[in-house]
Amino acid sequence: MGWILYILGGISVVFLATGKAIDTKNSIQIELDEFNTLLKCQACGKFHRKYQEELEMRINMHYKEYHTCPRCGGHSPIYTGEYYPWLDSNPEFPKLTWKDLKKVKKALRKTDLLSYENRMIEKFLYYHHLLPIQEKDEEKERLPDK
Ligand SMILES: [Zn+2]
Repeated sequence: MGWILYILGGISVVFLATGKAIDTKNSIQIELDEFNTLLKCQACGKFHRKYQEELEMRINMHYKEYHTCPRCGGHSPIYTGEYYPWLDSNPEFPKLTWKDLKKVKKALRKTDLLSYENRMIEKFLYYHHLLPIQEKDEEKERLPDK
């Protein structure tokens, strides 16, 4: 009788593990689809993808909002038009694979860390009055032009 329970236990462990693997696979696919979201600029007509906005957001000080064209700064809504195969292979906005997703996420994490370190050093220098200019800049940001 004990062996039946043993086998049933084994089967349920296999089911649980498979279920978990499928969940992980689905969540990676959802993230990948999100990063690959295609956007089209209303001003210049060029395409770009969401992951390009994520990168731009971290490396370009003047890039402040999502749905903005990295080339001309025009408003770029999500593209809902007809699908063409060349959209996936275009070198201007290559579609990420699972492997690429790992690399892009690693790059994003690294950039986040570097910008945190930059802010940390800046605050330190400002705190010790070694960076007097920053006070003026912060003042400007807080008080918008009339
Ligand atoms: Zn544009």
